[in-house]
Amino acid sequence: MKKILQNYTKQELSTMIKPAFRAKQIWNWSYHKYASSFDEMLNLPKALRAELDAEFTLTPLKMLLVQDSRDGSRKYLFELHDGHTVEVVLLLMRDKEYHEDGSVKHQERYTVCISSQVGCKVGCAFCLTAKGGFMRNLTTGEIVAQLLMVKKDNNIEANRRLNIVFMGMGEPLDNLDNVVKAVEIFADEDGMAIATHRQTISTSGLSAKITKLGAMDLGINLAISLHAVDDDLRQTLMPINKAYNIQSIIDAVKAFPINARKRVMFEYLVIKDVNDQMSAAKKLLKLLDGIKAKVNLIYFNPYGGTEFKRPQERDMLRFQEYLTSRGLHCTIRESKGLDISAACGQLREQEKGE
Ligand code: SAH
Ligand code: SF4
Repeated sequence: MKKILQNYTKQELSTMIKPAFRAKQIWNWSYHKYASSFDEMLNLPKALRAELDAEFTLTPLKMLLVQDSRDGSRKYLFELHDGHTVEVVLLLMRDKEYHEDGSVKHQERYTVCISSQVGCKVGCAFCLTAKGGFMRNLTTGEIVAQLLMVKKDNNIEANRRLNIVFMGMGEPLDNLDNVVKAVEIFADEDGMAIATHRQTISTSGLSAKITKLGAMDLGINLAISLHAVDDDLRQTLMPINKAYNIQSIIDAVKAFPINARKRVMFEYLVIKDVNDQMSAAKKLLKLLDGIKAKVNLIYFNPYGGTEFKRPQERDMLRFQEYLTSRGLHCTIRESKGLDISAACGQLREQEKGE
């Protein structure tokens, strides 16, 4: 099987290809010009192009499906070489806007939601990705290529700023080495040039791995999928809580190096009559005391076969109001792309069911 070009850092590639300066040229063709074949790389000698083509693939992912949402989000299903599939979502955070004279005021703002594994071992009760079990980790190249494919498909210029969130399928900290290498390739000026402060890793709370990631001091943002404030409840929703309880997560977060202008995001998936009570809001406030935190309340996005229900707007607002009035930053988020079931794992499940 051919090697995936996006698996390698620039440094690694320059030790694999002679002469070494070719590595940067190849990166430029792949990450800046979106070349999908070595034959397009006209400043490389023909013989080298043929050699590279025999050894590497530039396109490890096959686009199976694209769905557009009314809110501008676009969801992709990609097939890997072994037939497994992963989802990627391009989220439109802000529309392109123009001045009155027709000139561009600002470009669209995009966030790309990336997958790190096929399936997930964590097994959260509310999550569709978990239902299919765990298949395997994605390689670095399979992670990097997700963003590359989406940028190319949407004609997003190579130097355009965008944000990356590891919030697709899988638990990124359970595939730490490959994810960190992808983060480095994304951040490299000759790669995607997306600074680490524009990248966010979302985790279900593998405390030991949070500590390990923190020690690397990458400047990356952290999002914690908390979802509950009592260990008992959290354990029923997220079995991982037996290994890493709430306090262990809080301790790990307190030691994590946070960019001075950023906050740690705490994701709180609100499920009707499960974790939407005011008593939970009160405990949450106490729990986050002393942490530069931001809470994201997310509406649970129901799907066929789940016992969980979407919370009422009234309860969401009351929860938010309690926190914000006491000085804790708190936003309410609708799962973007609701009409195309953009939450975790939902597109893949739909495909399988057809
Ligand atoms: N495994 C990591 C990252 C991927 S999950 C983590 O758990 O943080 C990304 C987010 O999607 C998590 O916060 C998860 O709670 C949320 N999610 C899962 N199922 C959902 C659903 N049905 N509706 C809304 N959000 C959901
Ligand atoms: Fe895995 Fe995250 Fe889904 Fe939990 S919510 S099963 S950690 S992908």
